[in-house]
Amino acid sequence: MPAGDPPLTLRDLDDIGVDRLKGAGPKTARALAAAGIATLLDLLQHYPRRYHDRTRQARIDELALGEEVTVAGEIGRISTRKTRSSRPLTTVELLDGTGRLELVFFNQQWRERQLGRLPPGRVALVHGKVASYRGARQMANPVVDLVGDKTGRIIPVYPQSEKAGIHTGETAALVAEALRRCAPRGIADPLPPSVRSLHGFVDRHRAVEAIHRPEAMNDKEEARRRLVFDELLRVQLELVRRKRRLESSTAGIAHGVDGNLVRRFHQRLPFALTEAQRRAIAEIQADLARPHPMHRLLQGDVGAGKTLVALSALLSGVQGGCQGAIMAPTEVLAEQHHATVAAMLGDLTVPDPATLTGERPLGVELLTNAASAADRRRILTGLAGGGVDIVVGTHALIQEAVRYRSLGVVVIDEQHRFGVEQRAALRDKGDGAAVPDLLVMTATPIPRTAAMTVYGDLDVSTIDELPPGRIPIETSWPRGPMEEAAVWESVRSEAAEGRQAYVVCPLIEESDGLGVRSAEETYHRLTSAGGELAGLRVGLLHGRLSRADKEMTTELFRSGALDVLVATTVIEVGVDVPNATVMVVLDAGRFGIAQLHQLRGRVGRGSHRSYCHLVGDPATAEGQARLEAIVASADGFELAEVDLELRGEGTIMGERQKGRNDLRLASLRRDKEWVQAARDAAEGILDADPELAGHRGLADEIDLLLASDDTEYLLKS
Ligand code: ADP
Ligand code: MG
Repeated sequence: MPAGDPPLTLRDLDDIGVDRLKGAGPKTARALAAAGIATLLDLLQHYPRRYHDRTRQARIDELALGEEVTVAGEIGRISTRKTRSSRPLTTVELLDGTGRLELVFFNQQWRERQLGRLPPGRVALVHGKVASYRGARQMANPVVDLVGDKTGRIIPVYPQSEKAGIHTGETAALVAEALRRCAPRGIADPLPPSVRSLHGFVDRHRAVEAIHRPEAMNDKEEARRRLVFDELLRVQLELVRRKRRLESSTAGIAHGVDGNLVRRFHQRLPFALTEAQRRAIAEIQADLARPHPMHRLLQGDVGAGKTLVALSALLSGVQGGCQGAIMAPTEVLAEQHHATVAAMLGDLTVPDPATLTGERPLGVELLTNAASAADRRRILTGLAGGGVDIVVGTHALIQEAVRYRSLGVVVIDEQHRFGVEQRAALRDKGDGAAVPDLLVMTATPIPRTAAMTVYGDLDVSTIDELPPGRIPIETSWPRGPMEEAAVWESVRSEAAEGRQAYVVCPLIEESDGLGVRSAEETYHRLTSAGGELAGLRVGLLHGRLSRADKEMTTELFRSGALDVLVATTVIEVGVDVPNATVMVVLDAGRFGIAQLHQLRGRVGRGSHRSYCHLVGDPATAEGQARLEAIVASADGFELAEVDLELRGEGTIMGERQKGRNDLRLASLRRDKEWVQAARDAAEGILDADPELAGHRGLADEIDLLLASDDTEYLLKS
């Protein structure tokens, strides 16, 4: 690589195999391949998992008993003997010039091989707790990192797997060799100088060097910031670019949103809209009025009033002469939505020149697979002819046979339960010339910056305010039989006051029938003679009941003819009975944070004080942390942060992104402000250069690093 050639791009680095590095023989290359490292790019993106600062390293002669420390030293004598239980015990001497520390390993005879053949001068880092054995200082089963030569003040520690047979010192040596080879040409920096100086970033080459070979701890922080930003910027550029492409290349419907249907709807409500609802509706209407298809996510906490916003969106479409559809993931939910929608819209009318009065009642229908043949025919005719203005339903809405006269606005509730194919299918139900506007609703809010990445292709409206006057729900986590008995007492006393309660059965996959059995068993246990709820009017609801039974039970509960509803999680979302004031979740430790928060949101919807009891004694620390979080906070966004903290972002990303992704260093948790900064930068760059024609370096990195199916998947929703 003669100097004078242009700096190396990531693609150049990806074209050079690691086997071309000095020191990477066939054996090493195989080990690297096992760790997923085939090219120089892979190697340079294989980042240290931590660093060891030698200036702050403990001296063996100063170690205190009981201390947990990292000590660096050279390996001395090694021996293995059998213990009395005839397991091998390997003893290794560690020397640092100030003293001698004994390392003992139980059942790890391979340490002889690992540590016995180190060339002189090779340093090992050991981490563990200092103990004393027969007067000598000792560490039992410490973590050992073989870091290589004693140079540099800060030693990078790379992820190492004993199996792959390559240790951190060898990795460091290969990285150093790779960096040495890159030095003459340097590593290209595709970031526009304006963005670089705005954030005071170091250049790419320096960042890559410093993350692997920092001279001071602060160097690697600077380097990390820069590389994190690069990762996030690539993702945001891709998302924003594709989103804009989609918007400009597909014809949408420019709805006339200034009719009076929405205004009449709002006037009839017995309450005023919250500021947050107004803002969301305005954002949606602005989208609807544009000739591009809307692609928007509506997120808000349980009870924030999303339904009303969604209905306003549909009515905006209807008043401009189009049809609207709401698709829900389950029949129960669809029925519930239909009941709410029908009640809220009541006797609204739409203009119809064909009638005597010049208007007709707004047509609202429910379409699920449970519809009778006659109903189905009638509804399909109405959809094709235009007599149905708003249709609520399940997957039934996207079946082949369903034709719409002019589908204009589509709302999808609880989007994470739908596959992308289904979402696409619903959008394709437009008249062919124009793509309907899409509003996706989720009651599982995620932090805004995470949404920007996970749903980066959608615009996001957030309802961050609850309607006024809500009394906070009292949440308890009863421990022990006495406190659990008090839970059932509270159900009975609320029922005596005329209030109602839900009992949610342990979370078991309903598909295998176990969930149904668990609900049935719980129901019988609670209601049998001497049972906790004996004498109360109790109903049972689960997914395997016939439609008629489900409808009847739901209706009985809604009307107050049942005191208690024992149910599986079918009631998790959507059920809206303001008179219900108690939610009992059995085996609560098995539910996720979002789900528990949802379930709790089924109560506290009226003017009465409400209670949520989380029954159960989770076996895991994480389960306990979840219940503690729910008790401590009623704020869905705050809980989402805790959830992210507990589960890591892998799970959030996993919902939508599979396969390879480019976020190696960046964390949606730790790097929140950088997500926003990257989004802003991406928008700025694309405003001036929509196809990145003048930013070939960036464009090429995106092609290289974002496997296309990732973003396909993201954008198809
Ligand atoms: P979400 O779907 O966001 O969980 P809903 O749309 O089901 O919430 O609304 C929850 C309850 O709050 C409903 O009973 C609804 O009628 C009521 N509601 C909605 N908006 C308001 C408001 N601005 N003021 C008072 N109550 C409201
Ligand atoms: Mg709702």
